[in-house]
Amino acid sequence: MNLIWFRNDLRTDDNHMLAEACRSARRNDRRLLAVYCLDPRQFERDEYGFRRTEKFRARFLLQTLADLREQLAELNIPLLVARDHPGAAIPALVREHGITDLYLQREWTRDERQDLERITRAEGMQGVKLHQYYDQFLLPPDDIPFAVENLPRVFTAFRKACEADWSVRPETPRPQPLPAKSLVGDEQPLPGLAQLGLQEFDPDPRSAFPFAGGERAAQRRIQEYFWETENLARYKHTRNGLIGTEYSSKLSPWLANGSLSARQVYWQVKDFERKVIANEDTYWLVFELLWRDFFQYVSLKHGDRIFHLGGIMETNYEWHRNPEEIRRWIDGESEYDFVNANMCEIAATGWMSNRGRQNVASYFARERQQDWRIGAAYFESLLLDYDVHSNYGNWMYNSGVGNDPRDRRFNIGSQAERYDPDHAFRRLWLDGASRSS
Ligand SMILES: Cc1cc2nc3c(=O)[nH]c(=O)nc-3n(C[C@H](O)[C@H](O)[C@H](O)COP(=O)(O)OP(=O)(O)OC[C@H]3O[C@@H](n4cnc5c(N)ncnc54)[C@H](O)[C@@H]3O)c2cc1C
Repeated sequence: MNLIWFRNDLRTDDNHMLAEACRSARRNDRRLLAVYCLDPRQFERDEYGFRRTEKFRARFLLQTLADLREQLAELNIPLLVARDHPGAAIPALVREHGITDLYLQREWTRDERQDLERITRAEGMQGVKLHQYYDQFLLPPDDIPFAVENLPRVFTAFRKACEADWSVRPETPRPQPLPAKSLVGDEQPLPGLAQLGLQEFDPDPRSAFPFAGGERAAQRRIQEYFWETENLARYKHTRNGLIGTEYSSKLSPWLANGSLSARQVYWQVKDFERKVIANEDTYWLVFELLWRDFFQYVSLKHGDRIFHLGGIMETNYEWHRNPEEIRRWIDGESEYDFVNANMCEIAATGWMSNRGRQNVASYFARERQQDWRIGAAYFESLLLDYDVHSNYGNWMYNSGVGNDPRDRRFNIGSQAERYDPDHAFRRLWLDGASRSS
């Protein structure tokens, strides 16, 4: 029997691993089972006291899994949701169901690596064949014009090398349903937030991200942002906005857990360029997807150095860990109302604009010289779109220990006046209704 281990690839369309697992099941007349591990460690507190996954992303994930289960059911593939860490859950399934082949997306960051090491060392795993695929990139390692160890240090060099000669692979079609006999397994109902030790909550009506999880919700968002409003045609000119659903694509939470692929977005942009308009705004969305790839390559090249205080540059700045400074940043009590408004937004919703993220990170790391990894861990806890590569890559970048050759820090006063000239954003978060609990 084949087992598919879903992680950050929670979709049925354009999923290479799923397509291959189905092809092999059909060819060899095998049954197919899928599993996702709701690892209790992901809901525990980290070394700084933040829960590694807070309620916002947890709810989004549960919605995504519910949708994935329905989509897979149409293919006659049962999705088990194990409430255990993969090192225990996967070998147990292998033993119980006589699994011969394990299909998974290839991941390389610390936790994911350790999980796979535990699995492969476990009893009964020795004869199991692993099939691993890089499916999270727009341009996977085979399609870039240099070896990963030669990744350029700065983004512009990376982008220009890619753009000089690139072709994005076509989407992988959703597999045809398997014969009904593939249905095996015991699909327990998904837990609620309370069962994960998290608080139930009502969404904050001010949120710029009022959307649900799941691949169908991702497609609805594309439909709306690209085709109905044609906001894509204005993307570059509006992407630095701060309020509401329309200023940027808001695709990051779906991209982060893989309920949407970068390729799917790319091909929708190309379709839009053919049918509606091709301009610098449409180009810019693809440009941003290359940033996402770039940070994935940074972590692929530099490994665990992305978690080091000196970052990939091994820079020796003076860093502090002042509990009162950290608390004031988190609670929105800094000397800048612009920083405070953004920090109130993330605490109430799990969302913050890119402009906001750059400013609050620069303030925390460069102006207050607090250990940037604490800021990154706070973002990891709260962000709906947390992604290890983009989060740690951007934090390093904004803290002066990453890929930015300039020693930059934001002038927060002038940023606030430029991007929130009428104070509407600050009023929304600082004068508005009280935060949701
Ligand atoms: C300190 C800090 C932490 C961040 N942490 C994360 C994170 O954990 N997860 C995450 O997805 N993004 C992160 N970002 C990048 C960026 O802020 C978000 O991707 C973006 O705000 C998401 O909104 P959007 O989908 O509307 O983006 P759009 O502007 O519509 O961009 C389209 C897509 O391009 C990608 N993208 C855009 N900007 C970046 C960028 N700077 N780096 C990498 N990819 C980018 C995202 O996948 C995004 O969905 C972080 C940025 C900073 C400064």
